[in-house]
Amino acid sequence: MSNRVILRRCTEYDPDRISHIIQEGMEELGVRPRGRTMVKPNCVIAHPRYYANAFTRPEFLDGLLAALKARDGGISELSVGERCGITIPTRYAFAEAGYRPVIRRHRVKTYYFDEMPQVERPLAHPDALRSYIFVPQAVADCEFMVNAPKFKAHPWTQVTFALKNYIGIQDDSHRLIDHDHELHTKVADLQEVVAPGLIAIDGIIAGEKTMLTPSPFPLGLIIMGTNPVAVDAVCTHIVRLDPADVDHIRISHERGIGPIDLDQITVSGDVSLEQAQALSDGFQLSLDRVEEIFNGDKSGLETYAGPPPEPARTSAQADYCWGGCPGALFEAMHVIQAIQPGVYREVRPLHMVFGAYEGEIAAKPGERVIFMGDCAQYKGEICGKPVEIPFLYRYRDTYDPRHATSGDLLAKIFGYLAQRVRAGRRQVIRVRGCPVSVAENIFWISDLGRTKLPYLDPDVVFKFAYHYVIMRFRRFWAQQIGPRLGSTTGRGTA
Ligand code: SF4
Repeated sequence: MSNRVILRRCTEYDPDRISHIIQEGMEELGVRPRGRTMVKPNCVIAHPRYYANAFTRPEFLDGLLAALKARDGGISELSVGERCGITIPTRYAFAEAGYRPVIRRHRVKTYYFDEMPQVERPLAHPDALRSYIFVPQAVADCEFMVNAPKFKAHPWTQVTFALKNYIGIQDDSHRLIDHDHELHTKVADLQEVVAPGLIAIDGIIAGEKTMLTPSPFPLGLIIMGTNPVAVDAVCTHIVRLDPADVDHIRISHERGIGPIDLDQITVSGDVSLEQAQALSDGFQLSLDRVEEIFNGDKSGLETYAGPPPEPARTSAQADYCWGGCPGALFEAMHVIQAIQPGVYREVRPLHMVFGAYEGEIAAKPGERVIFMGDCAQYKGEICGKPVEIPFLYRYRDTYDPRHATSGDLLAKIFGYLAQRVRAGRRQVIRVRGCPVSVAENIFWISDLGRTKLPYLDPDVVFKFAYHYVIMRFRRFWAQQIGPRLGSTTGRGTA
C-alpha cells in the first residue's frame, strides 16, 4: 500500500467527471483492478426524501464503475457489495439509493451481504477482540476491494471514512457482536479481513452532524488512496481533527496498518490540505453524550448514562459506551425525526438509563423508566419505591460468534413484543440486548413515547415489505437450500 493520498476538486455529481478523476487517481497510485473486484459503498440507509445524504451517491458509483472498467487489469468479476444498516434489507437500501439502474447499466453483480452464507476468517493480531470473525462469502472471496465511503460525521466515532466503512462487511448477527464500547477496536479488527486495492471517498456533498440523517455539506472533494489509515488521517485533518484522537484510526495505526503522521503521507492532487481545510470550514461534527443531547428542555427524554461494564481495552473513552446503546438511542431519534420533525418536543416523557448509573432518576408518577441493555444496573428508589435492576451483561469471551443467531427485523419485532407484554403497565422496564439496536430503540420510543413509527410511513412501508420478503426468501435459499444443492458461494445477482 502506498502512503499517497490524492485530493481532487469535484463540485458536481457528474459521472463522467468523477470517472475521469478516479481514472487519473488510479494511474497516479499505480492501481489496476484485477480478479474478483468488489465496490463497497456506504449505503447504510437511503431514501430520496428522508435519508438523502447518508449514502455514497449513485452518480459516484456510476463514475467509479466506469473508471474501474477503463483501468481493467484483469477483472474476472466486477460487483457491488454491501450490508446496509441493521434490520434494513440491503436490496431496499440499494433501490432507494438509486443504485439498481447504475448496476444494470454497467452489467455488474450485486452482493447483498444479508442474503449470503457467512464464513469464518481468522484474526491474527494479538489485540484483536477475537481470534476469528465472520464475513460474507463474497467478501472472503474478494481479490480487489474498492472501498467507496461517504465522507460523513458520526455521532459514535466522530467521523466515518475508509476504516469505519468496513463495519458494513458484516451481516447483522455478526455486526452487532462487540458493537459496544469496543467498537473502535472492532473496526480495526475488520481491516485484517481484506486490504483495499483502492479507496475513493465521495466527499462531493459530505454529511455533517449525524450518520443516518446527516445534513448536506458541499465539500466538493474526491479523496483517493490505497492505505485506509493514511486516507483517514488526511480526512480527519481536513475537518481539523487530530487522527490520534479518533480511536479506530489510532488503533489501526498502532497495529502497523498505516501512518497518521503527515510527514509520512504524501498528499497530492489539485487541492492542497490547507485548501481542503478551508473548504470544510463550518463542517459540524458530533460526539455528544445523550445527556447533553436530550436532557432538560431539549426533548421529552431524560437520559442517564453510567459506565459500561469493562473498561475499553484500547479506547481512551472508558466511562461511556460510545459504540452501543446510547448512540443507538441518538440515531433512533434522528430516524424518527426524519418523518416527524417535531419529535424532540412531541415525544412523551421517558427516562432512559444506560450502564452502571448510580444517581437519582427524576421520574414523576406515570413516567416510564427504561433500563437499556444488558449492562444496565441500578439500586435505588424511583417515585419512592425501591428498584433493583440486575447486571445481565455477558462478557465477550463467554459467547461464540459461531452460535450467533439472526438479528433481523422479524426477530427484533418478536423480541420487542415479548418484552413489551412482560412490561405491561409497569413503570420500570428492562430491555435486553448488547447493544439494543437502533430499530429496537425506535419500537420502544414509538410505543411509549407515542411518536410515529418510521417503518409504517406510507413512503416506506410497502417498498420495504416487498424487499424484506424477497431478502428473506433469497437468504433462506442461499443459506439453507443452496448448500444442499451443492452451491456454497451464495453468488450475487447480475
Ligand atoms: S449493553 Fe449497551 S451500553 Fe452496555 S456494554 Fe452493551 S452496548 Fe454498551
